[in-house]
Amino acid sequence: MEKLYEGKAKVVYATDEPQVLRIHFKDDATAFDGAKRGSIGGKGYCNAHISAYAFRYLEKAGIPTHFLELRPPNEMLARRVRILPVEVVMRNIAAGSLSARLGIEEGTDLPFALLEHFYKNDALHDPLICEEHIRILGLATGEQIAEVNGMAREVNQHLSSFFSACGLILVDFKLEFGLDSGGRVLLADEVSPDTCRLWDKETRTKLDKDRFRRDLGKVEEAYQEVLRRVRGVHG
Ligand code: UDP
Repeated sequence: MEKLYEGKAKVVYATDEPQVLRIHFKDDATAFDGAKRGSIGGKGYCNAHISAYAFRYLEKAGIPTHFLELRPPNEMLARRVRILPVEVVMRNIAAGSLSARLGIEEGTDLPFALLEHFYKNDALHDPLICEEHIRILGLATGEQIAEVNGMAREVNQHLSSFFSACGLILVDFKLEFGLDSGGRVLLADEVSPDTCRLWDKETRTKLDKDRFRRDLGKVEEAYQEVLRRVRGVHG
């Protein structure tokens, strides 16, 4: 079927059903705005499976998502949505760009879950933006932003529990939302070690894409370990 879009980590195809898309998860990995490129063996398989477990869990908790079904080894069927060009990052512990931007030492507990918006725009390098920027740029309505923010905070509660049951700390993560044909806001994209920082609860070992970004080694093993734990608890 027709390829609709190819991104850094996924390819999206049309299906016979106009409202259903097939999403293929790739092993390709990029970091630092595309400056670092590589491949992580088995990543597509792990991310498709981990995302499927997470989306099913969230659906059960009452969060509307684009997920329909897993198509092993590394694809899923999802509802067609128009992705809002705003990335939502939720943070429980300081790390990454927050630590770099504000000088908060990585690993510092935040006093409350921090919600940030980034403008999904490659030419502008995905800048941090505020709600008024979103409205001025017409990226979403005030109502849609409020709904997205409420859902993101709920998702943080649910995913923190989901990963905690697996002995993992959900440090931070990125979400994307889309509008279905009826204008309903759905959680879209993926939930995986590409988009979530996950630390082992006991040792605080990083089990996510930071192993690739920072050349920490055992990258494939980290993705497999997260899937092994998620499958063990939620499978
Ligand atoms: N993130 C992502 N895609 C992006 C940027 C960030 O999935 O394009 C995730 C990242 O994996 C982390 C969280 O969002 O879990 C916060 O990332 P941060 O802003 O700290 O940026 P980074 O350090 O990854 O550049």
